[in-house]
Amino acid sequence: MYSCSYTGAGTTRIDIMTEKSKTFVSFDTAHCMILSSVTELGLERVPLKEAYGRILYQDIRSEINIPPFDNSAMDGFALHWDDTGGAHPDSPVELLICGEIKAGVEFHTIKVEGNSAVRIMTGAPIPDGATAVVPVEHTREDATRGTIAVFEEIKQNENIRHAGEDIRVGQVALNKGTQLKSAEIGLLASLNVNDIPVYQQARVAIISTGDEIAEVGAELRPGQIRNSNAYTLSSEIKKYHCIPHYIGIARDSISFTKEMFAKALEYDMVISTGGVSMGKYDLVKDVLVELGVDISFETIRMKPGKPLIYGTRKNTLVFGLPGNPVSTMVSFIEFVRPALLKMSGSTKLNKPLVHAVADNDIDKRSGRKEFFRGYFTIIDGVFHVSTTGPQGSGILRSMSVANCLIVMNEESTGCSKGDRVMIQLINHEEID
Ligand code: AMP
Ligand code: MG
Repeated sequence: MYSCSYTGAGTTRIDIMTEKSKTFVSFDTAHCMILSSVTELGLERVPLKEAYGRILYQDIRSEINIPPFDNSAMDGFALHWDDTGGAHPDSPVELLICGEIKAGVEFHTIKVEGNSAVRIMTGAPIPDGATAVVPVEHTREDATRGTIAVFEEIKQNENIRHAGEDIRVGQVALNKGTQLKSAEIGLLASLNVNDIPVYQQARVAIISTGDEIAEVGAELRPGQIRNSNAYTLSSEIKKYHCIPHYIGIARDSISFTKEMFAKALEYDMVISTGGVSMGKYDLVKDVLVELGVDISFETIRMKPGKPLIYGTRKNTLVFGLPGNPVSTMVSFIEFVRPALLKMSGSTKLNKPLVHAVADNDIDKRSGRKEFFRGYFTIIDGVFHVSTTGPQGSGILRSMSVANCLIVMNEESTGCSKGDRVMIQLINHEEID
């Protein structure tokens, strides 16, 4: 028995054992059952150049101070800050220039005495005695006299970047579970870490099912449709830096379907589409049971995505997603994506949810959670959302033009124009 709290697209705290039926579960229960069955992948080491998008397997501690030495944040003059007391454009302070330090110098013996200043470049080491840097634009140089006039008072330590102010020796610079994006890659470079411990990439097997499915490029016989699901799934898997492996189309026969799933079960995760409803040729569940997959549930109180078989065999997670292209995508976003991220070691599993004002009425009946494809805009800092037109589960274009899902909980009976609703942001560069 287990319980878990979930604060993503769901809202409630759940105890799995309170569900009446293990096969027909709420959205939140399904989410919790899936996440609690995930086993994290193991360690792999990759060079920095290949680490983008991967997730850290261990904390990274710094072996150095960053910056490594006190240095100037500006092109200007290093000086004693208190020598600038009272400096003003009408009454500048005059100081003697007693040297120059450029960025990259290995060694210098320059010291700053009172009433003098050292010309210094951005990034150059601060000379002994200096307690601030005055930017060059607040000074005027008199080359013949070898002096500068300082026009502004300056505070102690101003424009000095101190050793270790970004990261100190021994400090954790990046935490385990962090996804390595551009800033993190740059940080690792500045720490001179080139051998990066990351989680292995999940290898995900994809199976399409159904006699009516034709491959892209193949002859389309009467009654057939193209295999779009394998392509959307493969793209989603790549987006999360995991490795898709397309097994093929399982035609509507037990032996054929079983053969394909047997191959797929060698991977970290299996995702199939179609064949999970009540039809005579919906064979996925029987095949999974025969292959020893422990089924957790097979129907969820949600729309789209009601029939969804989930189970495990050893550490392999098996998702039998519904076949309609929109159902496939919504199920992926809500269930497969967080499982894939957790498996990959990520600590951020849920897409953001925000409030929005509904710009049209939405009809819904209570008793199931629903996801409507929506398009949000931000007007005067407030999120507004409209549905993207017909919401049939086969209409993939409505998914393509959507930038959010409007999420309505089981008890909701829809909304009227002007009501506040919850939206989950998708197809949004900053958020993926
Ligand atoms: P099923 O659950 O197998 O009856 O499939 C439900 C619907 O999804 C049917 O209209 C199928 O044709 C469609 N479908 C199933 N698999 C795919 C696929 N790989 N690509 C596009 N549509 C699919
Ligand atoms: Mg089918």
